[in-house]
Amino acid sequence: MKFGTKAIHAGVFPDPTTGAIMTPIFQTSTYVQEAPGNHKGYEYARTQNPTRAQLQDNLAALENAKHGFCFSTGMGSIDTLMKLFNPGDEIICTNDLYGGTYRIFTKVYQNLGLKFHFIGMEDVANIESYINSNTKMIWIETPTNPTLKIIDIAGAAAIGKKHNVLLGVDNTFASAYLQNPMDLGADIVMHSLTKYMSGHSDVVMGALVVNDDNLAERIAFYQNACGATPGPQDCFLVLRGIKTLHLRMQRHSENGKAIAHYLRNHPKVDKIYWPGFEDHANHEIAKKQMRDFGGMMSFSLKGDKMDDALKILSGTHLFSLAESLGGVESLIGHPASMTHASIPREERLKSGVTDTLIRLSVGVEDVEDLIADLEQALAAV
Ligand SMILES: *Cc1c(COP(=O)(O)O)cnc(C)c1O
Repeated sequence: MKFGTKAIHAGVFPDPTTGAIMTPIFQTSTYVQEAPGNHKGYEYARTQNPTRAQLQDNLAALENAKHGFCFSTGMGSIDTLMKLFNPGDEIICTNDLYGGTYRIFTKVYQNLGLKFHFIGMEDVANIESYINSNTKMIWIETPTNPTLKIIDIAGAAAIGKKHNVLLGVDNTFASAYLQNPMDLGADIVMHSLTKYMSGHSDVVMGALVVNDDNLAERIAFYQNACGATPGPQDCFLVLRGIKTLHLRMQRHSENGKAIAHYLRNHPKVDKIYWPGFEDHANHEIAKKQMRDFGGMMSFSLKGDKMDDALKILSGTHLFSLAESLGGVESLIGHPASMTHASIPREERLKSGVTDTLIRLSVGVEDVEDLIADLEQALAAV
């Protein structure tokens, strides 16, 4: 089955009792048993829920993997994954991680004895010098947030395999439509389903996807034991959103391309970060591992005056100033004071998150209207 067909059909089936074509919302906490232990595979809703099960199977199919697990938030999925590790274990991660991931690693799991190395991975060969006998996982985001660096997933996977170290990929920015890390050798794929996957800015949820049965068994244990599981209404919303994932991503990518080129030629724009440009440092890798380049981009302003950036941020009408990304509506944000506020200034400057850096999540509106909106906001500075 090809991607669009899987988005609509994989893992889901008409309700056997009524024929309802849409997966029912099984709003129940428990399931009746014939006799103790004699049940239909469902005992208690933290452990299993049929709405969640169909979403998990759908997600596994979209990532070409065997097992999917859903969590109440993206951070809940990362938190559960971290339970697989023990004090003394080391994890090597990209140095411009999502702010919340950086926070849980440095403020929560570092205190519990895990050691994290935050390193540049645009050349994946860098990873190897940080591997030692305690290294348990390489954790990457690609494209990275907010400077859209591209990391070679297959290259990182090869290094992981050589040293028997897991490779985990936060695939939130790309979505399962633009990129399938399992096909490139990743062991774990994580999603904040809150973003492109659900796509309508109406739900917060996360997922882990794996192939290995033993890893799946351990994740299933922690999913149930720690309990960051989502409710069935939210699972329904994500399933519904995924049915149009391929259509949305095509339009996000088309609009993204037009806006990236518009900004690149704008006299007030200094740097623009978007992996579709041929002179992007890892454009060739992006072309190889992604189906298209998506609607996420960041740009900085000439002069580097924070006030100019703030004027643009509150001067757009169609681009709403908000955290988050990946919804049908366009958003504009200021990483330095919003998504990356928890990262020390020197750290963020090193990875290009300057005071005038503006991030766009380009939506699926008509692109002429979006460009006109940016045009008038840029004219005011
Ligand atoms: C939003 C996001 C997360 C966290 O997901 P939540 O659903 O907000 O908990 C993790 N990684 C990336 C790249 C994100 O954009």
